[in-house]
Formats: sequence, C-alpha cells, structure tokens
Amino acid sequence: MKYYSTNKQVPLASLSEAVIKGLASDKGLYMPEQIRRLDADVIRQMPGMPFADIACLVADAFFGEDIEKETLDKIVRDTLSFETPVVHVAGNRYSLELFHGPTLAFKDVGARFMARLLRHFLRSEGSERVHVLVATSGDTGSAVANGFLGVEGIHVHVLYPKGKVSPIQECQFATLGQNITALEVDGTFDDCQALVKTAFLDPELNEALRLTSANSINVARFLPQAFYYFNAYAQMAAQGRADELVVCVPSGNLGNLTAGLFAAEMGLPIKRFIAANNRNDVFFEYLKTGTYVPRPSVRTIANAMDVGAPSNFARILDLYHHDHAEITRHISGAHYTDEEIADTIRRTFDETGYVLDPHGACGYQALCDSLADTEQGVFLETAHPAKFKETVDAILGREIPIPEKLQAFMQGQKQSVALPNDFARFKQYLLA
Ligand SMILES: *Cc1c(COP(=O)(O)O)cnc(C)c1O
Repeated sequence: MKYYSTNKQVPLASLSEAVIKGLASDKGLYMPEQIRRLDADVIRQMPGMPFADIACLVADAFFGEDIEKETLDKIVRDTLSFETPVVHVAGNRYSLELFHGPTLAFKDVGARFMARLLRHFLRSEGSERVHVLVATSGDTGSAVANGFLGVEGIHVHVLYPKGKVSPIQECQFATLGQNITALEVDGTFDDCQALVKTAFLDPELNEALRLTSANSINVARFLPQAFYYFNAYAQMAAQGRADELVVCVPSGNLGNLTAGLFAAEMGLPIKRFIAANNRNDVFFEYLKTGTYVPRPSVRTIANAMDVGAPSNFARILDLYHHDHAEITRHISGAHYTDEEIADTIRRTFDETGYVLDPHGACGYQALCDSLADTEQGVFLETAHPAKFKETVDAILGREIPIPEKLQAFMQGQKQSVALPNDFARFKQYLLA
C-alpha cells in the first residue's frame, strides 16, 4: 500500500517511510491510497470473536500488503496483550471502556502498535537508533512512554511542563527509566511543543540523529484505533443491539474519530458518528457553519481534548473530498462547558453509580442529547476516571478508588531531567 500526503505536494510513500517520517515533508498527513472493504460475511462473524482476532482481520486490511501475516498478527496480539474493552449497559446508551491498557487510556493501543511496527521496520532495514520526541500535557506522554518501554533501538524523550501535569500522570512517564527519559521543562505545554517542533526543523540535529514523533499524525498510531470500532460493533451485535448504531467520540485532535470513519469506510455498519468537544469546539463550529477557524486552546477539565487546531481534521476533509454536506451526513457535533461536564458526571453517578471521566462525560451527554428512540448509542470512555482524580473527586464529593495498575506507577521513583525552556540546551542534551 502506498501513502499520499493530504497536501499532495510530495511523492507517494511506503508504509515504512510514512511510519518513520510521521508527517510528510509538505506538512500534510499521510493517507492510505485505498481503504480495503472487509467482506460483509467477515464482519457478520465478528460477534463472539476475541478482540485480538477481530483486530488481526482489521490490521490485515490496512497493513497486510506490507507485512507478512505471521509478523503482523504477532504485532497485533502483542499490542493487545491486556484485557478486552467491555461494553457497559445503561438504557440504550453504552460505554465502550477503552481504558484497559497499561496507562488506562485508549492511546495505549496506538502507541503500543506504533512502537512494535517501528521496531519491525528498523530491524528489517538494519537502521540505526531512532529518537522519538513527544511533548505532553499528560495523557499522550504516559501512553507513548509505556507503549515504547523496553522496545529496542528506540529512545523516547518526553517533554512536559514542570508543575503542570497531575502527580499520577507524571509518575506514569517519569519513573520508567530504561529507554524513556522524562524532561521536566521550566515552561508551559506550548513551550514543550515549540522545543519539539524546532528540533524537527533543526538541520544539524537531523543530520546527527534520526528523529520522529508519536502523535496521532502517525498512521501507525491512529489506524489501529479502528480495532475498537469493530469490537464495539461485535459486542453490540452479540447482544442483538447493533441496528442503527450511533458511535459518539470525545474528540480533541480527531485521531480516534478518524479511525472510526475509516472503519465505516471498510464496511462496518455504523449509522452515524457524533464528535463531542469541550469548550475547544473548533470542529463543532466547522460542522455547524462549514468554516474552519482554528484558535488557541483554552484549559478545561477534559484537558486531553484541549486542542485549538485539530491535526486530523485534514484527514477528515480528504476522506470526504472537502465536501461539508458529505461530512455532516456522517458526523454531527456537540460541545460542553466544564459546568455541563461536571453536571453530567454528578447526575450519571447519582442515577446509575457509573463514574465517568470528564472526556467520556462529553460523549455520554451528547448521546443523551441526540439519540433517537430507534437508535442504539455507544460512547467511547477514553480514560479511567482515576486519571483525573482531583477533578472527579471534587465533582462527586467523594474519593474514587485508584486501580492497582495506577497505584503501581505511584510507587516508582521520579527520575526526570530538569531542562530550562531553551532550545540550545535541549539540543545539547540530545546530542550528548
Ligand atoms: C487523547 C484523548 C482524547 C482525544 O482523542 P483525539 O484522538 O485526540 O481526538 C479524548 N480523551 C482522552 C482521555 C484522551 O487522552
């Protein structure tokens, strides 16, 4: 399979080029030339199948031309070597819990898959070491660090703003050691991101080191998220509830939503999607008006969705040929303020005992607000609420328990490297 850039100013790339480069050199995002449809019979057989078997079928449709089956299946099974996401029932609204990975976030799957695919390509090319640079305000850093932990030939540098990530999040990437270095930057998240961006553009650094990114711009990170949608369908169909299926996706950079749209293009019977935003509602506004106006992000309690210029928007435009009417036929939008998110968390707990996280709360509320009687709605619960413990505890007025997986991280020793907000020093560190 060849990959083209959404900006169409550079030649087609192979899968390995697309994965190693991340962003195309014309700053476009890579898209597969074709999206292979799965046989309707194959999809009909998914209910009752183990998650990993479903994922292997989906991965084969994306990557089967480029990687031999045995290797690809192993990458997929290794990626998913933790519990299967489960659907929870509440009326005709269901949560697909995507927080069974090592850091209790849906980003675990994409990060783990990308790490394994990258290692495969580096090995088969006999390439030198690769350095992954990632700026984080919390969630991405922990998923990427844990996804790449112990993976040979790849070193991950996580830049995070000093004092501005939650203690649990910091433990998840700053205690790991091995091939993971946490850099505690004396600055803001935007400063961290600027340091990373400058590094990618620095000729001397790129001459000396092979640098890549690991955000949802990378095809190896965002495409595997399609596994989840097939799994949601399979679980709903197994219960006889997959007619008129509506899937609601709490959205920031739109990577997760785009993976769902790809699943639908592959033939998965999803009637429509809802993108749920917080106050950073650039995509909501686009759906409403047809005009895309990126703007600086504002801080909310669903902070993994605090995105002012969603990177995967370019993929959605490309997928539907820049046709606003076509896009709104597939996707509708919703947006919620912090107060509304808090109300939803409180009300849902009172009514059902289910503890939503602030991101999933946007998804759940959007289903409450727009699901028709004939429809079945699934929202993606993208992280465990304990990852946002201070926020959720304050809203519910009680302490929510911390799962063992998270507690284990909190026992580790923090081993960050302090760094001033200064590119010359960052460069010096990388070259050392
Ligand atoms: C990253 C993230 C999102 C947003 O996903 P996108 O693919 O960026 O749209 C939502 N919820 C949580 C908890 C996240 O970590």
